[in-house]
Amino acid sequence: MIPAPFDYEAPTSVDEALSILRDLTSSGKDVKVLGGGQSLLPVLRLRMAAPEVVVDLGRIDDLRGVREDGDVLAIGAMTTHDTMTRDPLVRQHALLLALAAETVADPQVRHRGTFGGALVHADPAGDMPAPALALDASMVIAGAAGRRTVAAAEFFEDLFTTAVGEDELLVEVRVPKHTGWGAAYEKFNRVAQAWSIVGVAAALRVEGGSIAQARVALTNMGSVPVRATSVEQALVGQQATADAIRTAAQAAAEGTDPPVDANADADYRRHLAGVLTRRALQTAAAG
Ligand SMILES: Cc1cc2nc3c(=O)[nH]c(=O)nc-3n(C[C@H](O)[C@H](O)[C@H](O)COP(=O)(O)OP(=O)(O)OC[C@H]3O[C@@H](n4cnc5c(N)ncnc54)[C@H](O)[C@@H]3O)c2cc1C
Repeated sequence: MIPAPFDYEAPTSVDEALSILRDLTSSGKDVKVLGGGQSLLPVLRLRMAAPEVVVDLGRIDDLRGVREDGDVLAIGAMTTHDTMTRDPLVRQHALLLALAAETVADPQVRHRGTFGGALVHADPAGDMPAPALALDASMVIAGAAGRRTVAAAEFFEDLFTTAVGEDELLVEVRVPKHTGWGAAYEKFNRVAQAWSIVGVAAALRVEGGSIAQARVALTNMGSVPVRATSVEQALVGQQATADAIRTAAQAAAEGTDPPVDANADADYRRHLAGVLTRRALQTAAAG
């Protein structure tokens, strides 16, 4: 199907985009922001949404790119998945994000889809929210009242729902540097180039053979990404051995509420969470 007709705005700055959004939403218009379009366009084509106006962020150069800001990487919301896989700063300081982005769809989707769009879309089966949560990212949201920063733990509110309001934009993702950490993203799906049935994002800092810090978060084990805090706590202070990892990974599904769908029931997802957590931790521990 082709989408229902809509008006199209293509601002060239964040301020212009916010002013357009403010004017349209205050006059009661149904507006959608367009990032890379890899989730929104299918929704429009299926006519699951029929906004009166689409505001395209594609011409706002300031929203693209990765820069260092002290101990933090500042990643523009319109940075593509493809850039996330290759950017030297991301690979050096937030390797987990690069590894997860490599598993997103196919090269065409990765060249158009954006890190910010994937986070605001907040698909429970999407691969970027859990790694962002694991690395304690925070999201910079711009609106009429200025900018506010929301931690990943509060950003994802429910299925396809985040802290970003209808007249607001996600402009930047701030990720504390995890330089020298081992990382892995384990994704289970039935066919190549598909969303996660379950995914596990893991990052470890190993010092002299012992696990000094651990971060683990799960994809598609609830309506929002879930931090596996029991696994993290069980790992810290342990030697990075296969036994310690196997024991800690058994707690992966603790506190989760996995969905049931045609791909898997809840018990199978809990089983997958344990297996994938073990595999991800083993890879991350190997450096
Ligand atoms: C064939 C196919 C396979 C795919 N496979 C995977 C996969 O394996 N794993 C995976 O994780 N994803 C997958 N995706 C989804 C892909 O990752 C999308 O790129 C991503 O979900 C959305 O990013 P986008 O930039 O395209 O956002 P869009 O589609 O443009 O927007 C998505 C939503 O976010 C909003 N939005 C976008 N940017 C902003 C912003 N800066 N501020 C405020 N709101 C914003 C939009 O209004 C919309 O509601 C797949 C998509 C396709 C088409």
